[in-house]
Amino acid sequence: MKTRAIYPGSFDPITNGHIDIIRRSLKVFDEVVVVVAMNLRKSAQKGSWFSPDERIALIREVFKGEKRVRVDLCDGLIMDYARKNKVDAVLRGLRAASDFESEFMMAAINRELNENVETFFMMTGKNLFFVSSTVLKEVAAFGGSIREYVPAPVWAAVKKKLKGGDFK
Ligand code: ADP
Repeated sequence: MKTRAIYPGSFDPITNGHIDIIRRSLKVFDEVVVVVAMNLRKSAQKGSWFSPDERIALIREVFKGEKRVRVDLCDGLIMDYARKNKVDAVLRGLRAASDFESEFMMAAINRELNENVETFFMMTGKNLFFVSSTVLKEVAAFGGSIREYVPAPVWAAVKKKLKGGDFK
């Protein structure tokens, strides 16, 4: 039987930190579905740079050719998505102790909502513990280069947005 994990998040935009989690998780799961979740508080905020469709397109571009990675959108509860899509596990990444509190709460409520799906936490990759979409957007907005921390299609998209003064 094939195992399917979902990796929900805002991915605004996808970073090398996310990519590292996805690649390493493929050693354990047969299929990983990256789920751009619209019900996350963050994605509803004004600070978002990329629309859900743009985020999805960027993730697809990064994983083109990798059949075991799929990308999807979820505008409801992740646990309802999991129920409807035969999901075995939810993946989350942990960067620092500060991530723990909110992740712990979310895993606990998700288990209340759907006890058939387990949450798996993966430790951040080497030299990626300080990489978050939020911090990278701040750095880029003030003119810093974030090239090292994002895949090439994201860097190109960020440069385009900055040139066009396309901030929200
Ligand atoms: P961000 O906090 O970067 O805005 P998302 O909401 O898109 O992230 O995050 C989705 C998941 O990916 C979360 O579990 C988050 O902790 C994890 N994650 C994000 N960046 C990293 C990283 N650099 N290393 C490990 N996990 C990460």
